[in-house]
Amino acid sequence: MGLIVAKFGGTSIGNGKRIRKAAQSVVNEYMDGKKVVVVVSAINKTTDELVAIADESIGKEVTEKQLAEILSLGERTSIRVFSSVLESLGVKSEYIDPSHELWPVITDDNYGKAQIDFERTEEQAQGLLSLLEQGIIPVVCGFLGRTENGEVTTLGRGGSDVTAFLLGHCLKADNVIIVTDVDGVMSTDPRKIDEAEKLDYISVEEMRDLATHGAQVLHPHALRFKDPEIKAKIISFEKGDLSDPGTEIVGPFEDSMGKKVCLHHEPISVVAVVGEDLLNQIGLLAKMTSLVADANINIYGISAGQNSITLFLDKEEADDAYHLLHDLVIAEDNLSSISLGRDIAMLTMINPDFIETPGVITEITNPLKENHINIVEISSSQTAIVLFINWEDGKAAYDLIKEVL
Ligand code: ASP
Ligand code: MG
Repeated sequence: MGLIVAKFGGTSIGNGKRIRKAAQSVVNEYMDGKKVVVVVSAINKTTDELVAIADESIGKEVTEKQLAEILSLGERTSIRVFSSVLESLGVKSEYIDPSHELWPVITDDNYGKAQIDFERTEEQAQGLLSLLEQGIIPVVCGFLGRTENGEVTTLGRGGSDVTAFLLGHCLKADNVIIVTDVDGVMSTDPRKIDEAEKLDYISVEEMRDLATHGAQVLHPHALRFKDPEIKAKIISFEKGDLSDPGTEIVGPFEDSMGKKVCLHHEPISVVAVVGEDLLNQIGLLAKMTSLVADANINIYGISAGQNSITLFLDKEEADDAYHLLHDLVIAEDNLSSISLGRDIAMLTMINPDFIETPGVITEITNPLKENHINIVEISSSQTAIVLFINWEDGKAAYDLIKEVL
C-alpha cells in the first residue's frame, strides 16, 4: 500500500478554488487506497506579505523569534483551510501545527533558519502513522519547526520542500510529490526562452545543481532527504492530478555528492598561450578548442584571462596539443608564446553550498599557503573549485583541504 507525501506550494493553493482542486486530488488518491500526508506552504504570497508587515511595523527591532511566530501564521492558516476542505469532501483529516502533540519537525532554536534534529524528528514523525492507520489525512505545516521547549522556528524561505522530503524520509514514503506552478522541471526558464521544454527525468545531482543556481522549483537542501526507495516528482497544480508524471527526480542523494574533494589519479598538463587583449578576440577560444577537439583530445578545464588562456589536458596528450596550438600562436597576431607544464595535480572540490559561502576560497587556499604549496591555477564555478598545483604537492594539498572542508 502506497504512502504519499504531497506538498502544495503557495500558488497551488493560491485561492479557494485551487485549494479545493488540490484537496480533491488528495481525496482521489485516498479513494484509490493510498495513504496521503499533506504538506502545505502558506497561501499564495502570504509569507512575503507577513515579512513586509513585520518590516514596516517593527523594522530592524524584530527578533528572529518574533518573526518566526509571525511568519508561521501563513502555514498555520493554510493547514486549517486545507484540512477543512478535505473534510467537506467527505474524508477525515487533522491539521498538525507546531502546537499539536503529533508535530513532527524538531529543530534547534536558530529561529530563522533552524537546523533539524533528525533523531527526534524521526521519532516524532511516527505519530503521523497512527493517524494514517485510522484513515485520517494529516495536513502538516511546511516550513515550520518546533524546539524541544515548544517554540516555533522556521527552516528558511522555501523550506516547505524540505519538510516534504524530510517527512518522506521519516515515514519511509513511497512517493514525495511536489505540486507547484510549473509543469515540471524545464530546460530553462520558459518566461525567458519560448522553446523551453519539460524534462521527463532529472537526476538528483542535476536537480540540486539547478536549485542551487537559483531555479525556484525546489529548495536546494530538500533533496538531502531523498532516499533511493522514494520516488519523487515535481508536477503542476493545473492538472489537479497527483498521478501526473511531471518530472521525476531519479537516483538517491549520496552524501559524497554534497561535499567532495578529489585528486585526479594521474598528473595532468597545462598548456598556456600568452598574448595581448585576448578576451576581446572573437573566436579565439573556439579556434583553440576546436584544434584540440579535432585531435580527439579532452579538455578538463580552461581558464581565460586578458593575457593568457590555459587549457588543462591529459599528460599523454599534452604534447600533441602543445604542437597544434603552437601553430596557432604563430598564425595569430595577438598570441605571442605558449608554454607546457607537464606534471600538474588537479584537485576538484565540489560542494553545492559554495555559491552561498563567503570566504570558501580563502578557507581552501590558506592551509596551502601555510604549507608553502604554490597554486599554479585556480578555476571556480558556482558549485566547484578546481585547483592546479605541482604534482609532488598533490597528496599533501588533498589532505590539508580534506581537513578544512
Ligand atoms: N511559505 C514559506 C515561504 O514562502 C515556505 C515555502 O513556501 O516553502 O518561504
Ligand atoms: Mg517554493
